[in-house]
Amino acid sequence: MDFKKSKYGRFMNSRVPPNKRYRPTEYEHVANCATHALWIIPSILGSSFLYFLSDNQWESITACIYGFALSGLFTVSTVFHTISWKKSHLRTVEHCLHMCDRMVIYFFIAASYAPWLNLRELGPWASHMRWVIWIMACVGTAYVFFFHERYKIVELVCYTVMSVFPALVILSMANSDGLFELIMGGMSYFLGIVFFKSDGLVPFAHAIWHLFVAVGAGVHYYAIWKYLYVPGTTEMKTSR
Ligand SMILES: [Zn+2]
Repeated sequence: MDFKKSKYGRFMNSRVPPNKRYRPTEYEHVANCATHALWIIPSILGSSFLYFLSDNQWESITACIYGFALSGLFTVSTVFHTISWKKSHLRTVEHCLHMCDRMVIYFFIAASYAPWLNLRELGPWASHMRWVIWIMACVGTAYVFFFHERYKIVELVCYTVMSVFPALVILSMANSDGLFELIMGGMSYFLGIVFFKSDGLVPFAHAIWHLFVAVGAGVHYYAIWKYLYVPGTTEMKTSR
């Protein structure tokens, strides 16, 4: 279906070649900002809640790391989209924020796995994933720094590898509580990629991508709260 010729066509601009950046319409700018701004406060409150549910130092530290990345993702994204809407003439600032917007995704992926890796018992080999994910996040960040927007498909491959690789460890956990929610959240991100790549084909494509990210993050948060922050248990073997 060609949205451009439909009555919804005015909500989006024409598609651009792969080496150019899509310019959202005013409507899309508003939606891009709103769809992530909405989650900043809930993510701060939600992760503070995990912090207060913590029974030991590891749970507290993990809640801080996770909360910092979760609220950081929505905050950086909102700031970037606001600047690219209202202050796009500040080219350098916008460029830096766009890089930050991409870098924070790597740390967000690492932080989404961190509670499972830190708070569940893992085998001797699998436990190395606890620090490997952060090395991967740093490599991803370095990649963005040097090759930002140059090879878009490589960027997508990096995100996919980083999202799927630690899951191999999670799948091998003796305690599989929460696995269903983890997979569902992951599916939301992967379905969202369709829209991430649909600027100029579907009106509000980027905002729809944001919503898929919010749903994925929400499902993962729910699983972390339900299975890993059970009051009065330091060994995560029971569920609520
Ligand atoms: Zn965005």
